[in-house]
Amino acid sequence: MTEAPVPSKPIYLDHSATTPIAQPVLDAMRPVLLEQYGNASASHALGRSARAALEGARSACAAELGCAPHELVFTSGGSESDNLAVRGAAAEMRKRGRGHHVVTTAIEHEAVLHTARDMENDGFSLTVVGVDQYGCVGVEEVLRAIRPETSLVSVMLANNEVGSLQPVRALAAALRDGGHDVLLHTDAVQTPLWTALDMDELGVDMLSLSAHKFYGPKGVGLLYARDGVPLRAVQTGGGQERGRRAGTENVAGAVGLAAALRWVAQDRDSVIQRVTELRDRLLAGLLALPGVALSGHPVRRMPHHASITVEGVAADLLLLGLDMRGICASSGAACAAGIVEPSYVLEAMNLPADAARGALRFTLGRDSTGSDIDHVLDVLPRLIEASRRASAPR
Ligand SMILES: *Cc1c(COP(=O)(O)O)cnc(C)c1O
Repeated sequence: MTEAPVPSKPIYLDHSATTPIAQPVLDAMRPVLLEQYGNASASHALGRSARAALEGARSACAAELGCAPHELVFTSGGSESDNLAVRGAAAEMRKRGRGHHVVTTAIEHEAVLHTARDMENDGFSLTVVGVDQYGCVGVEEVLRAIRPETSLVSVMLANNEVGSLQPVRALAAALRDGGHDVLLHTDAVQTPLWTALDMDELGVDMLSLSAHKFYGPKGVGLLYARDGVPLRAVQTGGGQERGRRAGTENVAGAVGLAAALRWVAQDRDSVIQRVTELRDRLLAGLLALPGVALSGHPVRRMPHHASITVEGVAADLLLLGLDMRGICASSGAACAAGIVEPSYVLEAMNLPADAARGALRFTLGRDSTGSDIDHVLDVLPRLIEASRRASAPR
């Protein structure tokens, strides 16, 4: 049987790394870029116009997230939001005599994990809680890590690499019920496409978002910080964002983020249904292949996320072959692509090194189609066979 021709347009199955910008989002941003270009801190007419657009975006985000506008800080993205939450809140807590111990997990994005590790250089102490074989954090394990001097706990809402959902609601409830006086931050960057986020229902003190992960523009993010959460600016300078984040505001970015948040909420349920069906078909086809296994939780995972391990072949070889055949996928974290070392997330899940070396991630989007899936299922089996033959010891 001959292989299907390479598609004229790449098949994009890397939506956990980034998404395309949606047309309505771009449409909302265009007039801001062209006409409302004043500095939002300026008091003249164009400054006031930019300020109005910025505060309009903040109010729209607050309405989506069920919080007050002043509880939202616009940032440059998920990484900065994570830095501001973890570094900024822990620093201010310590200054107020509230301890120097931070708890996080082994599967956090590097924006949290490397930040927390860097803080050890500044005299903070750190506990990194492990995960089970499915890449899930246990509430009990997190609670056990809390000490009298703990000021901050950071646990992501869903993992980018293996798709597993984390028990953040349950953790927030347990912290409340246990009378623990610690701040809870969650990196929710992967989730707006798949779940409505209501700050009170979730029960967290801080939450990070990034627009480019949900069909918004790159380079703009959001940090929710509940009223009263002590937060020291990490990026210092002017007094923008109520002194929490210096720098001339990215007004068009904020407007784009707000438009994207609203846009993905509109038909979230029907998108979830369609994407889940396609993802399940893809996974069924992949898992039927010899030496292929699911990574991450079989049920408690995001609807668009298919992550697998392929025995006896390195992921970078497969990714190269997929790319040559018009398929954009990933080997897990985008930042780790090209490195043959098994990812720290898979290591934390205790996956055998050989399987972890062959870790692939396909993440679907709103526009993924049945023929995209057919193409992957046509291409990948032959590619695995060929790669295994090529890498077999002679
Ligand atoms: C992408 C991502 C980030 C970083 O967001 P940027 O906007 O790219 O800085 C942080 N956390 C998670 C879980 C992510 O997927």
